[in-house]
Amino acid sequence: MIHFDIITIHPELLTGPLDHSIIKRGRDKGLIEINLINLRDYTTDKHRTVDDYAYGGGAGMVMMIEPVAKCLDDLRKQRSYDEIIYLSPDGKLLDQQLCNRFSLYKNLVLLCGHYKGIDERIREHLITMEVSIGDYVLTGGELAAAVLCDSVGRLIPGVMSDETSALSDSFQDNLLAPPVFTRPAEFNGWKVPEILLSGNEKLIYDWKHDQALKRTLERRPGLLSDDPPN
Ligand code: SAM
Repeated sequence: MIHFDIITIHPELLTGPLDHSIIKRGRDKGLIEINLINLRDYTTDKHRTVDDYAYGGGAGMVMMIEPVAKCLDDLRKQRSYDEIIYLSPDGKLLDQQLCNRFSLYKNLVLLCGHYKGIDERIREHLITMEVSIGDYVLTGGELAAAVLCDSVGRLIPGVMSDETSALSDSFQDNLLAPPVFTRPAEFNGWKVPEILLSGNEKLIYDWKHDQALKRTLERRPGLLSDDPPN
């Protein structure tokens, strides 16, 4: 079981992606808990302000420290966390190894930034880890949080109907997944590889492994080096 507390100023951005398909099934089974916390509930002014101008000037607003600190104080009274994560383009890149590691945790906070980002003192004193989903800039951290919840949630035992399926996906064992086919065996003259119809489990296993290796060499050779890229 894994519990996510997601701190956001746009909870509606997260309800869609995390309310369907396999993650919904995991939530329905009680294996994944996702608690959306509106940061504006921790403001004190009538406009429920969470941002202010940047010291030193420059374009863009900055998320203030007080609402985040209050919110985290409140959350920490209720449970202890394995990590308090700020989603950030300059954080540690989310890869399958990191997802595997997070899937062993019980409680995670995900803080979604907006505007120019969050006051640096939150990062220095209140956050325990920073995670990026790629080298590009999103409008806010919600889509990154949804990616993290989805990629980690599907690894929790019991969430997927066939638990071995996640183990044969790309990036486990530093290999890309082999190609997959379904019926019909022939369409427009395009045939499914004969070996997959043979029923010979050993030959099929070897074929899949060879294909995974070939695809990895062609598309992501760096994964096969002793020191795979993060
Ligand atoms: N000024 C920041 C910079 O250049 O690094 C970008 C701020 S961005 C417009 C607003 C928020 O989106 C960030 O605070 C972060 O929470 C989220 N965000 C943007 N890109 C992200 C990424 N690649 N991975 C994770 N979170 C991201």
